[in-house]
Amino acid sequence: MAAHDPYPIGTPGQPWGAAEVSAWRARQTCKRSYETDVLQAIETLRSRYEVVQYGRLDYHPARYPLFAVKSLDWHDDLPCVLVTGGVHGYETSGVLGALRFLDRHAAPCLGRVNLIVAPCVSPWGYETIQRWNMHAVDPNRSFREPSPAQEAEALMRLVAPLRERVIVHVDLHETTDTDESEFRPALAARDGIAHVPGEIPDGFYLVDDVEQPQPAFQQAVIAAVAAVTHIAPSDGDGKIIGSAVVAPGVIRYPLKRLGLCASVTTARYKTTTEVYPDSPRASPEQCVAAQVAAVTAAIDYALAH
Ligand SMILES: [Zn+2]
Repeated sequence: MAAHDPYPIGTPGQPWGAAEVSAWRARQTCKRSYETDVLQAIETLRSRYEVVQYGRLDYHPARYPLFAVKSLDWHDDLPCVLVTGGVHGYETSGVLGALRFLDRHAAPCLGRVNLIVAPCVSPWGYETIQRWNMHAVDPNRSFREPSPAQEAEALMRLVAPLRERVIVHVDLHETTDTDESEFRPALAARDGIAHVPGEIPDGFYLVDDVEQPQPAFQQAVIAAVAAVTHIAPSDGDGKIIGSAVVAPGVIRYPLKRLGLCASVTTARYKTTTEVYPDSPRASPEQCVAAQVAAVTAAIDYALAH
Protein backbone atom coordinates (compact mmCIF):
# COMPACT_ATOMS: atom_id res chain seq x y z
CA MET A 1 0.00 0.00 0.00
CA ALA A 2 1.51 3.36 -1.00
CA ALA A 3 1.54 6.07 1.66
CA HIS A 4 -1.25 8.08 0.03
CA ASP A 5 -3.58 5.20 -0.81
CA PRO A 6 -6.69 5.20 1.36
CA TYR A 7 -6.89 2.42 3.93
CA PRO A 8 -8.79 -0.47 2.26
CA ILE A 9 -11.65 -0.39 4.78
CA GLY A 10 -14.22 2.37 5.25
CA THR A 11 -14.87 5.71 3.60
CA PRO A 12 -12.25 8.43 4.04
CA GLY A 13 -13.48 11.04 6.53
CA GLN A 14 -16.08 8.75 8.11
CA PRO A 15 -15.47 6.79 11.31
CA TRP A 16 -16.00 3.06 11.12
CA GLY A 17 -19.24 1.46 12.20
CA ALA A 18 -19.95 -2.19 12.97
CA ALA A 19 -19.75 -3.21 9.29
CA GLU A 20 -16.27 -1.77 8.88
CA VAL A 21 -15.06 -3.38 12.10
CA SER A 22 -16.39 -6.72 10.83
CA ALA A 23 -14.64 -6.23 7.52
CA TRP A 24 -11.42 -5.40 9.35
CA ARG A 25 -11.74 -8.46 11.60
CA ALA A 26 -12.32 -10.72 8.58
CA ARG A 27 -8.86 -9.73 7.32
CA GLN A 28 -7.12 -10.87 10.51
CA THR A 29 -5.70 -14.38 10.57
CA CYS A 30 -4.04 -16.48 13.22
CA LYS A 31 -0.29 -16.44 12.56
CA ARG A 32 1.16 -18.03 15.70
CA SER A 33 0.05 -19.92 18.77
CA TYR A 34 -0.55 -18.39 22.20
CA GLU A 35 -0.82 -21.94 23.53
CA THR A 36 2.59 -22.98 22.19
CA ASP A 37 4.55 -19.79 22.75
CA VAL A 38 3.06 -18.45 25.98
CA LEU A 39 0.91 -20.96 27.84
CA GLN A 40 3.45 -23.76 27.49
CA ALA A 41 6.22 -21.43 28.66
CA ILE A 42 4.13 -20.45 31.68
CA GLU A 43 3.64 -24.15 32.50
CA THR A 44 7.39 -24.56 32.86
CA LEU A 45 7.41 -21.84 35.54
CA ARG A 46 4.87 -23.54 37.82
CA SER A 47 7.45 -25.18 40.07
CA ARG A 48 9.06 -21.81 40.86
CA TYR A 49 6.09 -19.42 40.87
CA GLU A 50 2.42 -19.21 41.61
CA VAL A 51 0.47 -19.08 38.35
CA VAL A 52 -2.94 -17.40 38.56
CA GLN A 53 -5.63 -17.15 35.94
CA TYR A 54 -7.06 -13.64 36.14
CA GLY A 55 -9.60 -13.77 33.37
CA ARG A 56 -10.48 -15.07 29.96
CA LEU A 57 -11.28 -13.31 26.71
CA ASP A 58 -14.80 -14.13 25.57
CA TYR A 59 -13.80 -14.28 21.89
CA HIS A 60 -13.40 -18.01 21.71
CA PRO A 61 -14.24 -20.57 24.38
CA ALA A 62 -11.16 -21.94 26.13
CA ARG A 63 -8.65 -20.37 23.79
CA TYR A 64 -7.67 -17.19 25.60
CA PRO A 65 -7.27 -17.68 29.33
CA LEU A 66 -5.30 -14.81 30.89
CA PHE A 67 -2.46 -15.70 33.25
CA ALA A 68 -0.22 -13.86 35.66
CA VAL A 69 2.87 -15.28 37.34
CA LYS A 70 3.54 -14.33 40.96
CA SER A 71 6.23 -14.86 43.59
CA LEU A 72 5.73 -18.18 45.30
CA ASP A 73 6.73 -16.62 48.62
CA TRP A 74 4.40 -13.64 48.77
CA HIS A 75 4.92 -11.43 51.81
CA ASP A 76 2.42 -8.67 52.44
CA ASP A 77 5.12 -6.45 53.96
CA LEU A 78 7.28 -6.44 50.82
CA PRO A 79 6.88 -3.90 48.00
CA CYS A 80 5.41 -5.17 44.73
CA VAL A 81 6.93 -5.15 41.26
CA LEU A 82 4.64 -5.33 38.23
CA VAL A 83 5.80 -6.31 34.73
CA THR A 84 3.39 -6.36 31.80
CA GLY A 85 4.03 -7.65 28.28
CA GLY A 86 1.90 -8.04 25.19
CA VAL A 87 -0.55 -5.25 25.99
CA HIS A 88 0.00 -4.83 22.28
CA GLY A 89 -0.01 -8.47 21.23
CA TYR A 90 2.11 -7.98 18.11
CA GLU A 91 5.03 -6.57 20.11
CA THR A 92 6.79 -9.90 20.42
CA SER A 93 9.83 -9.04 22.51
CA GLY A 94 7.60 -7.70 25.27
CA VAL A 95 5.95 -11.09 25.67
CA LEU A 96 9.17 -13.07 25.29
CA GLY A 97 11.07 -10.59 27.47
CA ALA A 98 8.61 -10.98 30.34
CA LEU A 99 8.86 -14.77 30.09
CA ARG A 100 12.67 -14.69 29.81
CA PHE A 101 12.91 -12.44 32.87
CA LEU A 102 10.82 -14.87 34.90
CA ASP A 103 12.76 -17.90 33.72
CA ARG A 104 16.33 -16.64 34.01
CA HIS A 105 16.66 -13.25 35.69
CA ALA A 106 14.08 -12.81 38.44
CA ALA A 107 15.73 -14.97 41.10
CA PRO A 108 17.90 -12.21 42.65
CA CYS A 109 14.88 -10.02 43.44
CA LEU A 110 12.70 -12.79 44.85
CA GLY A 111 12.51 -12.45 48.60
CA ARG A 112 13.12 -8.69 48.29
CA VAL A 113 9.93 -7.88 46.39
CA ASN A 114 6.65 -9.50 45.53
CA LEU A 115 6.75 -10.07 41.80
CA ILE A 116 3.68 -10.09 39.59
CA VAL A 117 4.08 -10.51 35.83
CA ALA A 118 1.37 -10.59 33.17
CA PRO A 119 3.40 -11.74 30.14
CA CYS A 120 0.72 -11.53 27.43
CA VAL A 121 -2.16 -9.17 28.17
CA SER A 122 -3.62 -9.35 24.64
CA PRO A 123 -3.36 -12.95 23.40
CA TRP A 124 -5.66 -12.52 20.40
CA GLY A 125 -3.37 -9.69 19.27
CA TYR A 126 -0.39 -11.99 19.88
CA GLU A 127 -1.80 -14.66 17.57
CA THR A 128 -2.95 -12.30 14.83
CA ILE A 129 0.09 -9.98 15.18
CA GLN A 130 -2.31 -7.11 15.77
CA ARG A 131 -2.18 -3.92 17.79
CA TRP A 132 -5.91 -3.82 18.51
CA ASN A 133 -8.14 -6.37 20.12
CA MET A 134 -10.81 -8.31 18.23
CA HIS A 135 -13.17 -5.32 18.37
CA ALA A 136 -10.66 -2.89 16.80
CA VAL A 137 -10.00 -1.32 20.21
CA ASP A 138 -6.45 -0.50 21.35
CA PRO A 139 -5.97 -2.09 24.78
CA ASN A 140 -3.27 0.45 25.53
CA ARG A 141 -5.68 3.35 25.36
CA SER A 142 -8.25 1.50 27.47
CA PHE A 143 -6.91 1.64 31.04
CA ARG A 144 -9.85 3.72 32.22
CA GLU A 145 -13.22 3.18 33.91
CA PRO A 146 -15.29 1.83 32.32
CA SER A 147 -12.76 0.15 30.06
CA PRO A 148 -13.68 -0.40 26.40
CA ALA A 149 -11.28 -3.40 26.21
CA GLN A 150 -11.63 -6.58 28.23
CA GLU A 151 -7.85 -7.12 28.07
CA ALA A 152 -7.35 -3.88 30.01
CA GLU A 153 -10.31 -4.44 32.30
CA ALA A 154 -9.03 -7.86 33.40
CA LEU A 155 -5.57 -6.51 34.18
CA MET A 156 -7.04 -3.57 36.10
CA ARG A 157 -9.06 -6.01 38.20
CA LEU A 158 -5.97 -8.16 38.86
CA VAL A 159 -3.87 -5.20 39.95
CA ALA A 160 -6.54 -3.25 41.88
CA PRO A 161 -5.75 -4.73 45.33
CA LEU A 162 -2.04 -3.90 44.80
CA ARG A 163 -2.45 -0.48 43.18
CA GLU A 164 -0.87 1.47 46.05
CA ARG A 165 1.75 -1.16 46.87
CA VAL A 166 3.52 -1.42 43.53
CA ILE A 167 6.81 0.50 43.63
CA VAL A 168 7.92 -0.23 40.09
CA HIS A 169 5.97 -1.09 36.95
CA VAL A 170 7.64 -1.83 33.63
CA ASP A 171 5.32 -2.14 30.63
CA LEU A 172 7.09 -3.82 27.71
CA HIS A 173 6.43 -2.58 24.18
CA GLU A 174 7.91 -2.20 20.72
CA THR A 175 7.71 0.48 18.05
CA THR A 176 7.70 -1.26 14.66
CA ASP A 177 7.76 -0.40 10.97
CA THR A 178 4.22 -1.78 10.74
CA ASP A 179 3.09 1.02 13.06
CA GLU A 180 3.63 3.39 10.17
CA SER A 181 2.69 1.04 7.30
CA GLU A 182 -0.45 -0.49 8.84
CA PHE A 183 -1.51 0.45 12.34
CA ARG A 184 -1.46 4.26 12.12
CA PRO A 185 -3.28 4.26 8.77
CA ALA A 186 -5.81 1.84 10.26
CA LEU A 187 -6.28 4.11 13.29
CA ALA A 188 -6.86 7.16 11.10
CA ALA A 189 -9.32 5.20 8.95
CA ARG A 190 -11.18 3.84 11.98
CA ASP A 191 -11.59 7.32 13.41
CA GLY A 192 -12.41 8.97 10.08
CA ILE A 193 -9.42 11.29 10.07
CA ALA A 194 -6.53 11.78 7.65
CA HIS A 195 -3.34 9.78 8.24
CA VAL A 196 -0.39 12.09 8.79
CA PRO A 197 2.80 10.19 7.92
CA GLY A 198 5.42 10.01 10.66
CA GLU A 199 8.86 8.56 11.26
CA ILE A 200 9.77 5.38 13.11
CA PRO A 201 12.81 5.96 15.31
CA ASP A 202 15.74 3.56 14.86
CA GLY A 203 16.47 2.39 18.37
CA PHE A 204 15.20 1.85 21.87
CA TYR A 205 13.41 4.53 23.86
CA LEU A 206 11.34 4.92 27.03
CA VAL A 207 8.13 6.71 27.88
CA ASP A 208 8.02 8.48 31.25
CA ASP A 209 4.99 10.08 32.93
CA VAL A 210 4.26 13.78 32.35
CA GLU A 211 2.52 13.98 35.73
CA GLN A 212 5.27 12.39 37.83
CA PRO A 213 8.51 12.22 35.86
CA GLN A 214 11.42 10.22 37.25
CA PRO A 215 14.38 11.32 35.11
CA ALA A 216 17.13 9.61 37.10
CA PHE A 217 15.19 6.33 37.07
CA GLN A 218 14.63 6.53 33.31
CA GLN A 219 18.32 7.26 32.72
CA ALA A 220 19.33 4.23 34.78
CA VAL A 221 17.13 2.06 32.58
CA ILE A 222 18.48 3.65 29.39
CA ALA A 223 22.06 3.08 30.56
CA ALA A 224 21.38 -0.61 31.15
CA VAL A 225 19.67 -1.10 27.79
CA ALA A 226 22.41 0.80 25.93
CA ALA A 227 24.76 -2.06 26.79
CA VAL A 228 22.47 -4.40 24.82
CA THR A 229 21.08 -2.37 21.91
CA HIS A 230 21.29 1.15 20.52
CA ILE A 231 19.18 4.01 21.88
CA ALA A 232 16.99 5.98 19.45
CA PRO A 233 18.36 9.37 18.43
CA SER A 234 16.15 12.46 18.36
CA ASP A 235 14.86 13.46 14.93
CA GLY A 236 15.65 16.83 13.31
CA ASP A 237 13.08 18.54 15.54
CA GLY A 238 14.49 17.11 18.78
CA LYS A 239 11.62 14.64 18.97
CA ILE A 240 10.86 10.93 18.97
CA ILE A 241 7.55 10.01 17.31
CA GLY A 242 6.33 13.56 17.70
CA SER A 243 7.16 14.04 21.39
CA ALA A 244 9.95 16.18 22.78
CA VAL A 245 13.02 14.23 23.87
CA VAL A 246 13.63 15.22 27.50
CA ALA A 247 16.82 13.16 27.92
CA PRO A 248 18.60 10.70 25.62
CA GLY A 249 16.00 8.11 24.58
CA VAL A 250 13.25 9.42 26.87
CA ILE A 251 9.91 11.05 26.04
CA ARG A 252 6.90 11.70 28.28
CA TYR A 253 3.21 11.04 27.88
CA PRO A 254 0.30 11.89 30.17
CA LEU A 255 -0.14 8.23 31.07
CA LYS A 256 -3.42 8.48 32.90
CA ARG A 257 -5.15 10.82 30.48
CA LEU A 258 -4.25 8.54 27.56
CA GLY A 259 -5.46 5.42 29.38
CA LEU A 260 -2.05 3.76 29.11
CA CYS A 261 -1.17 0.56 30.92
CA ALA A 262 1.66 2.25 32.82
CA SER A 263 -1.00 4.22 34.73
CA VAL A 264 -2.60 1.07 36.13
CA THR A 265 -0.87 1.50 39.52
CA THR A 266 0.36 4.47 41.55
CA ALA A 267 3.94 3.17 41.31
CA ARG A 268 6.58 5.80 41.95
CA TYR A 269 8.82 4.23 39.29
CA LYS A 270 7.08 3.38 36.06
CA THR A 271 8.27 3.20 32.52
CA THR A 272 7.15 1.95 29.13
CA THR A 273 9.86 0.34 27.01
CA GLU A 274 9.87 0.74 23.25
CA VAL A 275 12.16 -1.73 21.52
CA TYR A 276 12.73 -1.34 17.75
CA PRO A 277 12.80 -4.86 16.28
CA ASP A 278 13.04 -3.82 12.61
CA SER A 279 16.50 -2.31 12.87
CA PRO A 280 19.23 -4.04 10.84
CA ARG A 281 21.32 -3.49 13.97
CA ALA A 282 19.04 -5.42 16.38
CA SER A 283 18.42 -9.17 16.32
CA PRO A 284 15.30 -10.74 17.86
CA GLU A 285 17.55 -12.03 20.65
CA GLN A 286 18.85 -8.52 21.34
CA CYS A 287 15.29 -7.22 21.52
CA VAL A 288 14.37 -9.78 24.17
CA ALA A 289 17.61 -9.07 26.05
CA ALA A 290 16.85 -5.32 25.93
CA GLN A 291 13.47 -5.90 27.58
CA VAL A 292 15.08 -8.04 30.28
CA ALA A 293 17.80 -5.42 30.86
CA ALA A 294 15.14 -2.74 31.28
CA VAL A 295 13.17 -4.77 33.82
CA THR A 296 16.24 -5.72 35.80
CA ALA A 297 17.61 -2.16 35.87
CA ALA A 298 14.23 -0.74 36.88
CA ILE A 299 13.95 -3.11 39.84
CA ASP A 300 17.55 -2.51 40.89
CA TYR A 301 17.02 1.25 40.83
CA ALA A 302 13.78 1.10 42.77
CA LEU A 303 15.29 -1.11 45.45
CA ALA A 304 18.33 1.14 45.78
CA HIS A 305 16.23 4.32 46.22
ZN1 LIG B 1 2.90 -1.01 22.21
